[in-house]
This record gives sequence, C-alpha cells and structure tokens, in this order.
Amino acid sequence: MVHEEESYPVPPDRSRIGQEPFHFHCHPGVSCYLSCCHNVDLLLFPYDIILLKNQLRISSSEFLRRHAEVCEGSHPYFPGLRLKMAEQEGAPCPFLSDQGCTVYRNRPSACRTYPLERGVERPAPGAPLVAHYFMTHHPYCLGHGEQRAYTLRQWERDQALYDCNMYNDIWAETDAFFATNPWAGEGKAGPRQQLAFLTCYDIDGFRAYVSRHGILDGFALNKDERRGVLSDDGRLLRFGLAWIEQILGGRARLAGKQKGKRGIFFA
Ligand code: SF4
Ligand code: SF4
Repeated sequence: MVHEEESYPVPPDRSRIGQEPFHFHCHPGVSCYLSCCHNVDLLLFPYDIILLKNQLRISSSEFLRRHAEVCEGSHPYFPGLRLKMAEQEGAPCPFLSDQGCTVYRNRPSACRTYPLERGVERPAPGAPLVAHYFMTHHPYCLGHGEQRAYTLRQWERDQALYDCNMYNDIWAETDAFFATNPWAGEGKAGPRQQLAFLTCYDIDGFRAYVSRHGILDGFALNKDERRGVLSDDGRLLRFGLAWIEQILGGRARLAGKQKGKRGIFFA
C-alpha cells in the first residue's frame, strides 16, 4: 500500500511521490549512463545479500568477506552493511562492466528503486504497513529529463520490486525491534547480537546453525515443510527474522509444537 499522508517526513533534498506519474528513463543513450554506479554508499538489506550471493554462486559468508563492510545502521543498536566499492580509480561498483550491471536481475533493492527511495511505517499498532516513496534529485542523473513516465505501480513492476519490498518490509520490522536495544546489558557485538547478525546477514551460516542446534525441532513441521524452510533462502530468512525476535523477547510470531497443529505460523 502506498500512502500520500504527510505524517512521514520527507527526507532532505527529496520530494514526495504520490499517485501522479513521474518522468524518468534510464537507458544507454543518456550521457550519464553508468556514472551512478561509482562510489555509491549502497546499503545492503538481508534479501539483497541472498539475491547477490546466489547470482555469484558463492556462500553468504564468502559474499560478506568479499563484498560487504559494516556501517552505521538506521539506529545505534544494530549495524548495517554496505557494498564495498572496487579499489580502483573512480571506485566503481564491483559488479559494473563496460556493458552495464553484471548482476542486473539480482541487483540490490536500492539500485532497483533508484531514483526513488522507499520508507515504511506502521501508523498504529496492528495496522498494515504503509509505504512512502520519495524522488531523489541528483544533478548528475539526467534520466529525469527524459519523456517516459511511470506511475509507482508501473515502476515497481518494471523494476521487479515486489519480492524485494516484501522481504525488506519484514526486515524493517525486525530492525525496528532491534532499535529497542534488546541486547540490554550485553552491549554491542555480544553473543546475542552476533547470533542476530548471523541470522539476518549470513543465511548459509544461519542454515548450518539451525541444523546443528535442531532449531526446527521446536516447531511442528512435516518433512516437506522442514525441507522447504531449510532449502529456500527466502523462507529461511522469514523464519530467522521471526525466530530471532522471539528469542530476544520481541513479538511471538512463530507457533511452537502444539497437538493437532502443524506448521510455522508467521504473524
Ligand atoms: S549492483 Fe549494478 S546497478 Fe547497482 S551499483 Fe552495482 S553495477 Fe550499478
Ligand atoms: S545517473 Fe540516472 S540516468 Fe544516468 S545511468 Fe544513473 S540512473 Fe540512469
């Protein structure tokens, strides 16, 4: 759901995008083509890491080692991750080639969304999340002067944003919970925060942890459901984010073993 209400503040140097179409077209004919893929402060969300590590056919831990660096998150209580730019002149994105983006189908959500930015809020407890979109105005980006126009819906479809937005919304809720400082007393990088980091950012490491500690045994799953959670990175991430919130004392979003009931239930 996209909302135009003014309650969500417009970030500096942005303008709110509502239901009216906006003009934008990025294509190889613009003279700025690929210039924006250099020296980018590009935040990576948990689902971005899954898409990219699968595109590159490497494990999530290998991806983190090669391509990510810890940075400030959206609040002081949990770190963010950003993409490491290549150490060469102009600091290009490591996935940029002369022909364009080599990971285009699995590029991070920030790249898909640009020149827009997206934020979400829950206006009242229990109410559905509301999304807000804002237009950036970088002078180097000449796509704004093109004739093509999109509505938000068309842009989301054109950039294949639905899955990314769905996972990013789930992550936003977990991150909002982390902002309540659930590590109280343990401080930064204590064992529980390290476990949360593994769960959110290193899905293959988390899968090994789940298997090693029999985490799924606490939930009434049949073989297919169990295989699904263990084999599908997206399902495992959804489970992991709900699980980590639950064990840290947040919302109970997973149902444990109960007689006559099967499955993992996400609230
Ligand atoms: S991932 Fe692709 S679109 Fe995003 S900055 Fe890198 S090269 Fe550009
Ligand atoms: S600066 Fe804008 S128009 Fe130019 S390549 Fe990047 S997104 Fe496209």
